[in-house]
Amino acid sequence: LRARLEQFRGKETLTLSGRKIHLYANIGSADDIELAKASDAEGIGLFRSEYIYLSSPDFPSEETQFNIYKQVLEGMSGKQVIIRTLDIGADKTADYFMLKPEDNPAMGMRAVRICLTRPEIFKTQLKALYRASIYGNLAIMFPMITTVEEVKQCIALCDEVKKDLSKNSIPYSHNVSLGIMIETPASAIISDELAQYVDFFSIGTNDLTQFTLAVDRQNAEISKFLNPYHHAVIRLIEYTVKNAHDAGIWVGVCGELAADEGFTHELVRIGVDEISVAPSSVLMLRARISTLG
Ligand code: PEP
Ligand code: MG
Repeated sequence: LRARLEQFRGKETLTLSGRKIHLYANIGSADDIELAKASDAEGIGLFRSEYIYLSSPDFPSEETQFNIYKQVLEGMSGKQVIIRTLDIGADKTADYFMLKPEDNPAMGMRAVRICLTRPEIFKTQLKALYRASIYGNLAIMFPMITTVEEVKQCIALCDEVKKDLSKNSIPYSHNVSLGIMIETPASAIISDELAQYVDFFSIGTNDLTQFTLAVDRQNAEISKFLNPYHHAVIRLIEYTVKNAHDAGIWVGVCGELAADEGFTHELVRIGVDEISVAPSSVLMLRARISTLG
């Protein structure tokens, strides 16, 4: 099997009919870059930047973050790197954020809600990202979006950061793509509107399944109800892909479902442009996709 998979190393990811799919890796730290490269991933589809915050005793400084993002961008040598901005809250917390205890933290003060409420935290991250952007091919992605207004605010903060950098003659790339995660039913349902503001979507099937089915992904007792194949979830994925393509933007999938070999035929049928998975699944999926569509 291993030898069979090795035939796919260094190749593009193509369906039977020759349609190209971008096969990227999900990572949680700069150390994972070696794994991602060894896996032959064509880029990074999801860098969960919150792990930088979780492994830090206090807010990571702009300099600390800059160095990590630079390392990841340089490590990927010009391949696309999609860095997701802080998605803290819910199951992932750090004491120094001083988040109030909540009854429903997964639906609470988390991700962009924190970033837009406390823009000084967000701007530090965005500044580090834009400063690092000259070292590779960076895309920035915002998590847990539910409204157009949030997207506009995220973009406005990016513009503010870029202006500050320009004013101080600090270089940054003018080709940083901006995207959002589609991981709430609301964002999938208004994906036609959201697509007007961003360069790409990445569908997070873990949270999309949790929120569509009202099943807590953290609660092992009810895991049998957490069914990502539920037609409600699949229809939201289909609808999102259609809306993305109608608006002329690309769309990927980066939740667990992306690595599910039993579902790959559906992703190919639906027409997703990018699939981002754990490095260990990359070659297996490239082989699988070569037999489909
Ligand atoms: C998702 O929700 O599907 C996702 C990719 O993000 P996370 O698993 O980090 O919430
Ligand atoms: Mg998520």
